[in-house]
Amino acid sequence: MASVSPPPTLLDRAKGCLLGGAIGDSLGAPVEFHTLGVIKAKYGENGIQEFDRAYGMLGGITDDTQMTLFTAEGLIRAKVRLALRGVCHPPSVIAFSYQRWLHTQGESCDRNAIDSDSLGWLVGIDALHHRRAPGNTCLSALRVWNQDLAKNDSKGCGSVMRSAPFGFCEATWELAWESAAITHGHIEAKASAAIFAETIRLLVAGQPLEAALIQACSLDRDETRSARLVRRAIELASGDVDSESAIRELGEGWVADEALGIAAYCALKGGSDFEKVVRLAVNHDGDSDSTGAIAGNLVGAQYGVGVIPTRWLVQIELRDVIEQLATDLVTELPLAPRDGATDAQKQAEKAFLDRYPGG
Ligand SMILES: [Mg+2]
Repeated sequence: MASVSPPPTLLDRAKGCLLGGAIGDSLGAPVEFHTLGVIKAKYGENGIQEFDRAYGMLGGITDDTQMTLFTAEGLIRAKVRLALRGVCHPPSVIAFSYQRWLHTQGESCDRNAIDSDSLGWLVGIDALHHRRAPGNTCLSALRVWNQDLAKNDSKGCGSVMRSAPFGFCEATWELAWESAAITHGHIEAKASAAIFAETIRLLVAGQPLEAALIQACSLDRDETRSARLVRRAIELASGDVDSESAIRELGEGWVADEALGIAAYCALKGGSDFEKVVRLAVNHDGDSDSTGAIAGNLVGAQYGVGVIPTRWLVQIELRDVIEQLATDLVTELPLAPRDGATDAQKQAEKAFLDRYPGG
């Protein structure tokens, strides 16, 4: 009798989600600004299939993964703050994480985000201090951020491409929505982030992708284009339209609703075949690294890190940092008991709080 492999553990899914996103991001990075015609002329009829050099390396991540890591950092720090102080407004904590990302882009940021008590470890990773075509909306909104919501009307995909980690926390929909609003004012930017994060949460809970997408879209009370494009992606994935035409119909992915629709289509079409999903997701006219990142997040969250080819895992930039954040995101906080803590428990707590100060 054929053995049935056990479902991935929560940790497998967290690693799969964040590493899968990083790999989709990296595969798309060299072709982000190229049309499909130019991609085919360079890489052949099937388009780009393997990592190629971008930003001076193979396997380099871009702003999509950088910001996803800072989302994860913010969520962990919010959890710490709640545990230590009993009160917390997570979007505010996450906004300070985005300020630290702004700092890594060589920009001045809110000083409270980088004072000596609130630094944490992530902003200290030198390899994150590079600009990898950061989105203008994220940069401009964070530059003028004053503990408020974005005052623009942007629906760029910068809100959705960083939102996978919300699928690993409570109040996923609300948190993803409110955190998207830190940088993006348009309802589609917020709805796409919320639908995406809710889908990740449902995948992690064991639902198959199509059911997760449908259930996530059912939370949309505004009849958004984001939900409509996801529903259209589901129709296209089960129909007989060829993939090139299907993706073209869904858009180019520079805006949030289209990026989510394209990524959903590719993840549905490729199933557990990680290579097929991310290759589909990066070979089109539009924002290849963002659609690759979102699609990679989806397949990794559903099937776990085991479906990702080893050759890509060993090449992806900052693999150890990404795995550490994935682990910390889903592991119980190692806080020592207030009474009778052992030295080892106190040391573990101190090491964790040095990485993730509660603020
Ligand atoms: Mg990018």
